[in-house]
Amino acid sequence: MRVGLLAVQGAFRDHLSHLEALGASYRLVVSAHDLAGCDRLIIPGGESTVMSKFLRAYNLVGPLKDRLAMGMPVWGICAGAIALASSVDGKKGLLAALDMSVERNAYGRQLASRAVRLSIPILGRTGFEAIFIRAPRITRWSRKVSVEARLEQDPVFVLQKRVMATTFHPELTSEHVFHRFFLNL
Ligand code: GLN
Repeated sequence: MRVGLLAVQGAFRDHLSHLEALGASYRLVVSAHDLAGCDRLIIPGGESTVMSKFLRAYNLVGPLKDRLAMGMPVWGICAGAIALASSVDGKKGLLAALDMSVERNAYGRQLASRAVRLSIPILGRTGFEAIFIRAPRITRWSRKVSVEARLEQDPVFVLQKRVMATTFHPELTSEHVFHRFFLNL
């Protein structure tokens, strides 16, 4: 198994220590050729408008959509979750692999970055430290989407078949539970 780590833009480096600790082989993905050599993909946090520009410029949108349609497991973090959403700020999402609507930077300035404790039953965890950085808010989701963690009322970890998204950043903690879960998805 080889994990792809989308490396066109954003916080991909923070995932390396987790993948290395779990003994996962990985490849940085900046082209369709790189993607073809991977059987799952992490889309990191970053800046979703810039990321989507690079994804288009590197001709990755079509190949990514094809692999998603074939059932490749993908995990989007924050900006990655935005890339996977079917609707973003009322417009059609880039990859539209998760049947949900998101609103970018919806938590406002004061709450833009914060660490909270979450209970995540599917990972067998309570008190998981979740770090939010200018996170999107998931405002609508269909029955195809299962909500695996919430912050107050809002979903912050969702799963639709083998596509998952977190609006917070597990790669910024020292725990490997999310990466392990994704590797087994
Ligand atoms: N605010 C960013 C965006 O809208 C996402 C932030 C992040 O990925 N940490 O793209």
